[in-house]
Amino acid sequence: MCGIAGFSISRGDHRNVNCRQLAKHLLLSIQERGEDATGAAWSETDGDDKSVMFAKLDIPADEFVGSLNDLMPRYTRTAILHTRWATKGDPEELGNNHPIVVGDIVGIHNGVITNDDYLFAVEKWGRIAEVDSEAIFQLIEHSKDPVSRLHRLEGRAAIAWLDTKEPDTLHLARLDGSPLYIGATEHGSLVFASTHPLLEEAVKAAKVKLVTVTEVKPFTYLKVQAGR
Ligand code: GLU
Repeated sequence: MCGIAGFSISRGDHRNVNCRQLAKHLLLSIQERGEDATGAAWSETDGDDKSVMFAKLDIPADEFVGSLNDLMPRYTRTAILHTRWATKGDPEELGNNHPIVVGDIVGIHNGVITNDDYLFAVEKWGRIAEVDSEAIFQLIEHSKDPVSRLHRLEGRAAIAWLDTKEPDTLHLARLDGSPLYIGATEHGSLVFASTHPLLEEAVKAAKVKLVTVTEVKPFTYLKVQAGR
């Protein structure tokens, strides 16, 4: 199964939303979709420098979230979150857990890619780990126009990724078969999670109000900056 979640915070919400709390509650909500490993990636600003930071461990979300206090800035603007139900690749090998890092791309995936071995053989990408999801982020890293090539992936996928070249941009895509829902706050932030009930549960616990929730339809790509 696996759970994915995250957010892109608008300028209007920047000081209203405690993003670290939101990240924790999103992770705790999606924990029921996978307990083999938990991970997070977020954009961080240090003066003029922007970067993508990430953390992952082979433990369930309720054991992981405490570490965010020391790691994730309270006013993080962009984050992606993952709870893993492993289908391929041992969770004890951290490279198999999400976020998966391939070059500039830091990504999370819910679903199963069935032609990953074929793509690795044909494209001759150097494989970092064993997890099927790595094929998605190798494809994105090695493409000038990645969205136009996502059709090469076979299987089920809801995907989110950050790119270290543009750390504040959230990329979201859904192929077929894995669910994905986005919500909007009154001030224009976007919050996403695998399912509608889990999204509602998390925002309620984090005291964030959504004014709309929408299903991301299959074969859709969204590029999100400051919630838009
Ligand atoms: N196939 C991926 C993995 O093993 C995603 C798992 C899932 O969504 O169930 O990590």
